[in-house]
Amino acid sequence: MPREGLSDRVAALRERRAAAHRVRVRRTVLRRDGVRCEVIGEDGAPRWLLDFCGNDYLGLSQQFAVTGALQDLAAREGAGGIASHLVCGHHAAHEALEREVADWLGVPAALLFGSGYAANLAVLQALLGKDDVCVQDRLNHASLIDGARLAGCALRRYPHANAEGALRQLRAAPDGAALLATDGVFSMDGDVAPLRQLALVARAQCATLYVDEAHAAGVLGEDGRGSIDEAGLDAGAVPLRLVTLGKALGGYGAVVAGDAGLVRHLAETARPYIYTTALPPALAAASLAAVRLARRDHWRREKLAALVQRFREGAQRHGLPLLPSDTPIQPLPCGDEARALAMAASLERKGCWVAAIRPPTVPEGGARLRITLSAAHAEADVDRLLDALAASRDATL
Ligand SMILES: *Cc1c(COP(=O)(O)O)cnc(C)c1O
Repeated sequence: MPREGLSDRVAALRERRAAAHRVRVRRTVLRRDGVRCEVIGEDGAPRWLLDFCGNDYLGLSQQFAVTGALQDLAAREGAGGIASHLVCGHHAAHEALEREVADWLGVPAALLFGSGYAANLAVLQALLGKDDVCVQDRLNHASLIDGARLAGCALRRYPHANAEGALRQLRAAPDGAALLATDGVFSMDGDVAPLRQLALVARAQCATLYVDEAHAAGVLGEDGRGSIDEAGLDAGAVPLRLVTLGKALGGYGAVVAGDAGLVRHLAETARPYIYTTALPPALAAASLAAVRLARRDHWRREKLAALVQRFREGAQRHGLPLLPSDTPIQPLPCGDEARALAMAASLERKGCWVAAIRPPTVPEGGARLRITLSAAHAEADVDRLLDALAASRDATL
């Protein structure tokens, strides 16, 4: 028997995905102007859509202070990162961003990474080994799951947002070090982790609590400090957290912030930190400007919260059963994949771009429209989306 060819294998897998409505396609954006973008349609023709699937929650990605900082530093220092941080790639712009984030969050230390995905791999790989355990929420981001795989530690998952489940999993693995990891705001559900309860569990079990603030940083808490701040917890209760720069902060990259000893260990030993080129300094300068705006511009969070409330009230009026969420992530369950795709296609014909999220990104049977709002939306945009959602629901029943 000849060995199975990879081309044959992937062709068969694609057919199976097609039969299950799980083919993934990329859409090409030609131009972006705030929440309006010109996108190439299925028919090949470009058209303008209102974006309700991006993560630019505060509308910072196109702010002049942010893009201007990027242009200025790129003009002086170049486009690239040149080398890894431990060779000669570490730049004053990286240092300034790390200091700003540490000051913003009120923690001793911060370390900049090329992406949130790499940062989560780094934290778990550098801190945990084969005799240790990582206890995680079942709905945590894929990068946290992959980090545990890279670490080679035991991975134990608990039912979503269930602190007692976390306690049971920690009790069942009493030997070795333990990291309790959770998303602060869950990326596909928009709900907030029970951080106060998880902090108690972590303390009782001598586990380190690690919170991924990808969708909370800039959005929740005083001055946008995130879900940890909103829960009234400090750096003692949460020794390490992840802030990503590509969502509410409108840039690219990520920062791990917290305990100085833990952060230094990452800088000296984490493989996803050491064996990669530093983020271009110009991108760090852009994020520095964005963090300053996020700290200062309370009106962005206030406007966003008002839009979220307007959307939820309108959805209730229209009989659209949203998941419970007070964050800018507002999912509408659709049951099966075909219905989610049909709804998204119908919304697009009405000028609204909403992502149909299907397994394996969400659990089986959990297909949904993941609607996201931004401070860059207007009230009229939200109203237009509500009308389009109601009409699409009626058209696909
Ligand atoms: C987006 C996301 C990441 C990854 O961050 P990137 O900077 O996009 O790589 C990590 N965790 C969560 C919860 C996310 O939503």
